[in-house]
Amino acid sequence: MSIFKLKLHTQIFLALVLAVVAGLLTNPETRLLGVELFAAYDFVGSMFLNALRMLIVPIITSSIITGIAGIGSSEALGRLGGKTFAYYMMTSFLAIVVGILAVNLVQPGIVDGEPAREILGLSAEHASDVADKVGNHDASSLTNVFLSMIPPNIIAAAANGQLLGLIFFSLLYGFYMTRIGDELAQVQYKFWCGVYEIVMRLTELVMKFAPIGVFALVAKVVTGIGEEDLGSLVQSLGLFFITVVLSLSFHAFVTLPLLLATLARVNPLRHYKAMVTALLTAFSTASSSATLPLTIECVRDNAGVSNRVTSFVLPLGATINMDGTALYECVAAIFIAQAFGLELTFVTQFTILLIALLTSIGVAGIPAASLVAITIILSAIGLPLEAVGVILAVDRVLDMFRTSVNVFSDSCGAVIIARSEGETGILTEKRDAPDA
Ligand code: ASP
Repeated sequence: MSIFKLKLHTQIFLALVLAVVAGLLTNPETRLLGVELFAAYDFVGSMFLNALRMLIVPIITSSIITGIAGIGSSEALGRLGGKTFAYYMMTSFLAIVVGILAVNLVQPGIVDGEPAREILGLSAEHASDVADKVGNHDASSLTNVFLSMIPPNIIAAAANGQLLGLIFFSLLYGFYMTRIGDELAQVQYKFWCGVYEIVMRLTELVMKFAPIGVFALVAKVVTGIGEEDLGSLVQSLGLFFITVVLSLSFHAFVTLPLLLATLARVNPLRHYKAMVTALLTAFSTASSSATLPLTIECVRDNAGVSNRVTSFVLPLGATINMDGTALYECVAAIFIAQAFGLELTFVTQFTILLIALLTSIGVAGIPAASLVAITIILSAIGLPLEAVGVILAVDRVLDMFRTSVNVFSDSCGAVIIARSEGETGILTEKRDAPDA
């Protein structure tokens, strides 16, 4: 059977496996026919990522505007908004609790009863990279995040990826769009529905290239993991890595499916199946914003959730609901604190929990965004922000895992909220075509 006849998610999965093999066989200097492979992976991967990112602004704007307009009355909007916010807060909180319990239980920052600071010194030499990645962030960046919610210039907000600002404006726009004269409102509504449908078609087009894009992105990550990183991963960061992956797995394979089964009364296995393309894309791109068009497509077309719910819940989720990120921030901050021998009282841990909850709302859905939030936590508990350097070696790979969890949680939210709104035909065996 031709490889092109395979289902898209199977092709992406194969690309991922091949990428790991190719990445292991090459190093950053390897050349093929005179071409540096690392640079080639970088080029192709960036093209794919750019194509997905190109869709973010139109998809967020059009889906929120049509979503809000479709919800109708202020009461219905308030109800849906309330449920969405409650779900997002609850799942992020549950994720954080799992992370905090796991990191306290495993104590990856303590080796043979001693803080692992010395051993970690090995990778602390990455500290100079930290400044590049996170800039100079202190607690005031938290207020800035919330300030950017009301953007002084909507075009600048869109251009600079300040999606919270874009969402805020689109919410207002959609709300008032239905409150102008009928004739004008009709024109507006049809226009934005058209934009939305066009972007969804463009998503399908971009996804045709997903296997190649995913191959390049993952091969680049694997090639970039130097021997030094591998050494430090095994020696000192191994336990930390395992703690994060196990906690994320607990959230994705225990907490969220339980919520799906109890609150939405749907079969979680069917939901994993419906979401597989989006999850693989989230894993490879490490960006929930870039994955958003796909998340919408999978939840709408495969799971069968209405446009009314997907177009409101998912863009919000991709920006403010980051369970994996919240969990990771806590585990990483507490791990670093343990390694530095810092006394972690209940109050300190509670502070970490609160900041993680808040910052996970504010961090952008782009690769490595958590690092900024972790530096905010570190400065709040009195550690130098350069200390985040100790986890850089494993951050990118963990980013892939936490982004998949972020996206999965958004999709579960859409299903649970849609069911609570009385929608039927979601994730059923022989589902009717979802309403468009
Ligand atoms: N990469 C994550 C996302 O896009 C954010 C993070 O760094 O945790 O969801």
